[in-house]
Amino acid sequence: MLDTKYQVIARRYRPRLFREVVGQEAAVTTLKNALRFGKVAHAYLFCGSRGVGKTTLARLFAKALNCQEKTEGFEPCNQCASCQEISSGQSLDVIEIDGASNRGIDDVRQINETACYSPSPGRYKIYIIDEVHMLTKEAFNALLKTLEEPPERAKFFFATTEPHKVLPTILSRCQRFDLGRIQIPQITHKLSQIATDLHRIVEPEALHLIAHFADGALRDAESLFDRILCFTEETVTAEVVRNALGLISQESLFALDTAFANANTSFAFELVETVFSSGKDLFHFFEQLIDHVRSLSVARLRGENGLQLPTDLAAKYLQACKFYAPTQCLYLLEYLLRAEQTLQKSSNPRTSLEAIVLHYIQSRHRLPVEVLVRRLAELEQALLSKELVPTPKALDQIPAPPVQERDAPTPKTIEPIPVPPRVAVSPPVQKAIAPSPTPELKPTPFSPFKAQVIKPDPLVAPPLPQSLSPDVPIIAAASQSRYDTLMRFASVELEGTLKKD
Ligand SMILES: [Zn+2]
Repeated sequence: MLDTKYQVIARRYRPRLFREVVGQEAAVTTLKNALRFGKVAHAYLFCGSRGVGKTTLARLFAKALNCQEKTEGFEPCNQCASCQEISSGQSLDVIEIDGASNRGIDDVRQINETACYSPSPGRYKIYIIDEVHMLTKEAFNALLKTLEEPPERAKFFFATTEPHKVLPTILSRCQRFDLGRIQIPQITHKLSQIATDLHRIVEPEALHLIAHFADGALRDAESLFDRILCFTEETVTAEVVRNALGLISQESLFALDTAFANANTSFAFELVETVFSSGKDLFHFFEQLIDHVRSLSVARLRGENGLQLPTDLAAKYLQACKFYAPTQCLYLLEYLLRAEQTLQKSSNPRTSLEAIVLHYIQSRHRLPVEVLVRRLAELEQALLSKELVPTPKALDQIPAPPVQERDAPTPKTIEPIPVPPRVAVSPPVQKAIAPSPTPELKPTPFSPFKAQVIKPDPLVAPPLPQSLSPDVPIIAAASQSRYDTLMRFASVELEGTLKKD
């Protein structure tokens, strides 16, 4: 039999006290203080996205304002005649108006007229206008007149999702509250309270999924929860919620992480096949994928503290995020956000999705340009510091290697190069200078040639090795090893220059 007294969860569990309001602590404190100090403004504006508690707060405040037996904490008693009339929507002193359907100047004129009538003794005449931004310009101007000189016991509470559409002259006459989106843990807490009250068993991950899907709107979360409780009479698991919401299993997404780690590209087709064969919505899946990579990025960069997830799920993310470097997380997030637009415009969404997932897996081997540039710079630096790269000014400006390297083993593959004439040393003297600067360095009588002793050029020559005294002249002899080293890197052009000389 149909239960005629059945109320949906959002109505049944609507806050009846300030302390039951979820996630709007600042607004609640300010309103209660206004009651405490008797400083109630004549107009309030509650702004915020849908389902965050704008009209709930306005109604509670109206109730508390007119309550005859307020409790110590300035909460409405919910027992007195005024409270009960407001709860049942039959109060003559608290009038709720939908701004979307009563938006004309005549509607506002009617408000202005009735506002002049006195309320019941000890009470205020309160107008709660929802979606106030829908009023026409003329209606706003008519309202403005009343707001400028409000009747003594009249109060106006406005609610809107689009405060920028409200005339600035109205805005400046209201005390404004911007109500933020409600956090996931706060929503899950409220849902678990409702589940306990209804004697239903719900998995924490299922609650989290509902809260996440509601996107900060408690009323949406409650409506969704209502729907899912009707979906099954058994325990509400995460799987049940995913089925009800048309989402794929979390395990499939963690399997994608493993495929990424193993560069298993064939998994791309497998995953897309799963999405299609189960009849899930493609774009829901894509949103899920973006959320998944976001959670991986948060786990990678902020660790456990950043994840607003049930403990079990958070542990899985902390494990899976190890497959990704922080730069890879960032790249994938950017890539998916760009790819979302491509997918929306695609005439063949399935193939587009396959290509996107394929690229996702293959991006494991991708190196960002900045990393490549840095690596090149490091390599260049390393080569220069070992004198392995000839400088552009060619051979005669390349400093001689340190003394101890002169006898380094020569690579066999490189042909010895004759000493060019510019380096004025005859072969017999070359023998005499190795291995150390001893008296033998001086030209010896047995040499048929004269060794030419050259003073080091301060602009070209490197600083003297520590072991050499400045008095010992440097013989600009090029050892075999020096030429071998140079020739390993010398270009054909350089070689040509040598031969020409
Ligand atoms: Zn009361």
